[in-house]
Amino acid sequence: MKLIYRGRKKNDEFIFDYVARIGRSNGYTNIKKFEKSIIDYFEHESEVINNDLNKNAIPRLAMERLFSRNIELDESHRYMHSRRYIWSKVSGKCEKCLREVSYTRFYWRLNSYRYCHVHGDPIFPEGIAENGVINTIPKLLPKDLCESIVKFYEDSDSIQNSVLNEVERFYVDQSIVSSLVFYFSSCGIPEQSANSLREAIWNAKLIGLSASDRIQNIAKLFSYYTGTEVFWLRMITLTERSYLKHTLAIKGHWFSVEGEYWRYCHFLMGTDIKLVEIFTKVSGFRERKEMESVTVAGVIENFSSITDETEKNIKMAIFALRGIKSWVSECQKSEDLFKKKNPHQVYMGNLNRFV
Ligand SMILES: [Zn+2]
Repeated sequence: MKLIYRGRKKNDEFIFDYVARIGRSNGYTNIKKFEKSIIDYFEHESEVINNDLNKNAIPRLAMERLFSRNIELDESHRYMHSRRYIWSKVSGKCEKCLREVSYTRFYWRLNSYRYCHVHGDPIFPEGIAENGVINTIPKLLPKDLCESIVKFYEDSDSIQNSVLNEVERFYVDQSIVSSLVFYFSSCGIPEQSANSLREAIWNAKLIGLSASDRIQNIAKLFSYYTGTEVFWLRMITLTERSYLKHTLAIKGHWFSVEGEYWRYCHFLMGTDIKLVEIFTKVSGFRERKEMESVTVAGVIENFSSITDETEKNIKMAIFALRGIKSWVSECQKSEDLFKKKNPHQVYMGNLNRFV
C-alpha cells in the first residue's frame, strides 16, 4: 500500500481526525473504506495476533508502519472514552482556519469553544451552542473562557493535555463550590451570594493556576461571606477526599485533573495541626457511632452558625478519612509547586533531583 500524501499530525489534531485527513488527501472519499484498507494492510503485514490489540489503536499502528515513523499519542482517548458534557456530539469548525491550514482542531469538539479565538467566527451552527446555563449545574463554560484557555495554550507542545486539564479544572472548581453551597447554605451563606460565588470562579484570571492556588482562591471567596479561610480549606479537604454517603462527599464528577486536587488536599491533611489531631484521635475507630463522642470544635473553630446536620456531615467525613496517613513527601511538595505552563521543564527538573 502506498500513500502519496504523508503529512504529519498537528499538535492540536486528534489521531482519528489525522487518519481521516490522510485518507482524504490521498483521494479516499469514504473514510471507513480508507480505514479498512490500512487495517487490512496492517493485518497482512503484521505477525501480531490482532485480537490482542485495541481496535482503536490499529489505524495509528498501520500509519506508523506505512510512514516508518512514530506518531505520538495524544489525548483523543479523552474524547473517545468519555462523552461527558464537555464534548459536543459533532465537531464544529472555522472556515477561515480551514482555508489557512486544512485540518480539524481538537478544540472544535469542545462544547464551550463557541467562537474561533483567531477569527472570532462562530464554530457551531446557530442554536447548538446557546443553551448554557450558569446558575444550576452548568453545561458550558461562560462566554469567552474556553476560547481564552485555547489561546493561552496555543503555542504549547502539549496543547491538548493543557487545554483539557484546564477546562476540567474549571468544572472541578465549580463542583467544589456547589458542594460547599449545598452543605453550608443553612450555615450563613446568603442565598444570593451562592450564585456570585459560582460566577466568581468562572474567572479567566485563574487560567494557568494550579489546583492548590484554586482551592485557596475558593476558600478566600467563601471567607468573604462567613467563616475563616482555614475553616473553608478544611471543609474543601473533607469534601474532596471524602467518598462515603452521608459525609461531605462531592458527587458526580470524574476528571483527569482530580489527582491534583486530591494531592493538595492530602497535603493540607498532613500539615493542618487541627486535622492531624482529630485524625489521630479517631484513627482506631471501627464504627461510625463512635464518632458521636468526638467533638469537632477544634476543626470548626469559631464558626458559630453551623447546624447539627452539617456538624454530623463533618464528623462522618472525618470518620471516612480516618485511615489516610498524613503523608507529605518531598515528591508531593514538588508536585504541589507544579506549574502547568512548562510541564516538560518541571518534569526534567524533578528527574534531575531524583537521578
Ligand atoms: Zn478561525
